[in-house]
Amino acid sequence: MASTRRYDVVIIGGAVVGSSVAYFLTSLAPGLAVAVVEPDPTYEWCSTLRASGGVRVLFSCPENIEMSKFGRDFIQAFPQAMAVDGREAPVDWVQGGYLFIVPPEGLPLLESNYRVQRAHGCDVEMLGPAELAARFPSMFVGDLAAGVHSPGDGWCDPNGLLQGLRRKAIAQGAHYIAERVVALACDGTQVRRATLGSGEMLAADAFVNAAGPWAAEIAAMVDMPLPVAPLRRFEHYFTCGNPIERLPYVKDTARLAFRSEGPGFSGGLVNGDEPRGFNFEVDHDWFEQVVWPAVAHRFPPFEAARCHRTWSGLYEQCELDGNPIIGNWPGRRDNFHVAAGFSGHGMMHAPAAGRAIAELIVHGRFDTLDLARLGYARIARNAPYAEAGIL
Ligand SMILES: Cc1cc2nc3c(=O)[nH]c(=O)nc-3n(C[C@H](O)[C@H](O)[C@H](O)COP(=O)(O)OP(=O)(O)OC[C@H]3O[C@@H](n4cnc5c(N)ncnc54)[C@H](O)[C@@H]3O)c2cc1C
Repeated sequence: MASTRRYDVVIIGGAVVGSSVAYFLTSLAPGLAVAVVEPDPTYEWCSTLRASGGVRVLFSCPENIEMSKFGRDFIQAFPQAMAVDGREAPVDWVQGGYLFIVPPEGLPLLESNYRVQRAHGCDVEMLGPAELAARFPSMFVGDLAAGVHSPGDGWCDPNGLLQGLRRKAIAQGAHYIAERVVALACDGTQVRRATLGSGEMLAADAFVNAAGPWAAEIAAMVDMPLPVAPLRRFEHYFTCGNPIERLPYVKDTARLAFRSEGPGFSGGLVNGDEPRGFNFEVDHDWFEQVVWPAVAHRFPPFEAARCHRTWSGLYEQCELDGNPIIGNWPGRRDNFHVAAGFSGHGMMHAPAAGRAIAELIVHGRFDTLDLARLGYARIARNAPYAEAGIL
């Protein structure tokens, strides 16, 4: 007969979001018995290791702005805060700034988002075409109305963030199990047990679904419809071929997004119409046909650009509104907490989401940041709560 181990909390998925939940749970409630079920200790296919590491406050929803502010502070203090036995946790933070640029039709939205960001105390500046050209001399500004620059934003190493959280969570008592959850058993509104691939069972008082692009599969095990789908996106490392100034993380309304990386650049152009599914195949023509023309239009020195590497990764796209789903399904799955659907923002929001889920489990409410509008209730009501403007 299969054995059953008992924990207070079982977290399903142990990449950046699951490890953040484990870290905050074991910080908030030392002594809590926390298991993290993660089948792949190499993290080969998870989204976290394929991310480009961007952290920015340039959102329109207050929750996203506040989650980013917390994440940014958390990441800057990370090496020392996550040290274990005196060994720091490097995360390679680069405060390179973000820059959102828009054509004339995008200006009203950029301005209204800018006002929200200012109201939330963000360090953002609105730049007209002449100011953009003065600041970034290689940029073609002829078709632009404005840009918003956030000099305090930047990027970090997603693997460093994941490994630091994981190591610290383990040092604080979390137990990582190299297994896959294959079934969940419910009793009324409560999830009671997870069955692992080995046949072993884990019983717990609370469960967390942090399975990224696989989150809908996990939710289906408890008959919870979760509109989270895998969306393939390419990331490229390329060099300019001509001298050019260092650039911030540049994003435009066509979803071009790229930033400086060492002597070159890293980024891509998201195709929101990409068929959903677990597809990691690389289209080696995508850079030449789609990304390069867009980059070279905006920064002509990139006419001589060369792509050195392309990789693919999966966004865990929330199909309702592109925002994360954080929390339980009240009255239906009370002790089953989702932290998924981050739609391309899950690395920067992992610290705040982990803290939020830990607060829900330990205190039964959000203590520091009210994320109720990102809860499952909007999914159940089919009532989108979306970002406005650049995604
Ligand atoms: C190309 C690209 C660029 C990106 N750039 C950025 C960026 O600049 N900034 C940003 O904030 N975000 C970015 N993202 C998004 C970010 O990577 C994700 O939102 C984030 O990594 C999600 O983390 P996660 O832990 O939820 O999911 P994942 O990292 O995918 O981890 C999910 C884990 O669940 C595990 N799992 C699956 N099935 C099971 C099961 N049955 N039982 C137990 N465990 C299971 C998997 O093994 C996996 O390790 C980018 C993503 C991509 C693809």
